[in-house]
Amino acid sequence: MVEKSVANLGEFGVIHDIFAPIQPKNGEGVQLGIGDDAAALSVPRTQDLLATTDTMVEGIHFNSDADPYLLGQKALAVNLSDIAAMGGMPRWFLLSLAVPNRTSQSWMEEFARGVKAASENHQVALVGGDTVRSNAKIVITVQLLGLIGQQRAVARSGAQVGDKLFLSGTLGDSAFGLAHMLGKLPVGSADDVSFLSRRHDLPEPRITLGMAIQDAALAHACIDLSDGLVADLNHICEASKVSAVVDVEKLPFSDSAKRVMDQHGSSALELALTGGEDYELLFAFAPGAAEEVAKIADQVGVSLVEIGEITKAEGKPTVTIQQQGQAMNLAQSGWTHF
Ligand code: ADP
Ligand code: MG
Repeated sequence: MVEKSVANLGEFGVIHDIFAPIQPKNGEGVQLGIGDDAAALSVPRTQDLLATTDTMVEGIHFNSDADPYLLGQKALAVNLSDIAAMGGMPRWFLLSLAVPNRTSQSWMEEFARGVKAASENHQVALVGGDTVRSNAKIVITVQLLGLIGQQRAVARSGAQVGDKLFLSGTLGDSAFGLAHMLGKLPVGSADDVSFLSRRHDLPEPRITLGMAIQDAALAHACIDLSDGLVADLNHICEASKVSAVVDVEKLPFSDSAKRVMDQHGSSALELALTGGEDYELLFAFAPGAAEEVAKIADQVGVSLVEIGEITKAEGKPTVTIQQQGQAMNLAQSGWTHF
């Protein structure tokens, strides 16, 4: 049997048969969803609208043989992480797909099943999108809209000298999972491979944590780690015109990541620091906030540990990673596209 492709279904078949059914029946605040020229959404008077978008390109962000069910979830998760970093509540999203003719109907259905799973998990409503043909590669773009109290968005620019840096979850798992998959970093046990790959394939956006911290007005600055700790901390430093020091000894690592670093030494540590796609939240808090921060992390059930502090920038903002008090020399700071 020849497998059906999206070309057999046609643009409107794809929209009506595969994506329109994902739309919740009574999405909150959705006046008009899929099917018109634009969605109409009700933004409460007391809230600001958060808007973010992320694109994933076949061959750049994912392999051609990547599991479409996981990809569908990840496309949403990376955007949810951006809203989490602002301290907001994610609400509505648009999905734009450029796919070549050869794309199978079953790929599209699995992808949509992943999108649906993530959207139900995090209670966000699909309200529109775009479906077009591409020449060769699959390109997936999600635009996510969220809500936050007026002027409550947690920016990158508020970090102050003396602030303590805190990181959620664990660092480096995703980079190790990817490096293993690419054959660049052999990982010893099958259990570690499965844990690390999952952290790469399926990031867990820290929405509840971001909102709880924002609600308590605790963070001076926040960013989610997509490009790697060093690069993303550098974004905070540049925006806040400060420098930062991180102690390697304080960094939170999973047991699997620890075993990888035991096996591969400093090159693995460097990868954990710069690899990216952790989708953890990095905060700057006033020194006195630690106790309240710990309480919130406990309530939310996400670990949040102190990893360093904000210092005065002497000239250009810098990020120093120190090991036993000695500044490390990193060959690369993080992921950039160009
Ligand atoms: P227009 O030509 O007016 O831009 P389209 O014909 O492209 O509209 O899309 C028809 C409707 O289907 C719109 O409401 C659009 O938001 C929605 N839509 C298109 N592609 C998708 C998709 N992949 N997922 C969800 N909704 C989609
Ligand atoms: Mg139109």
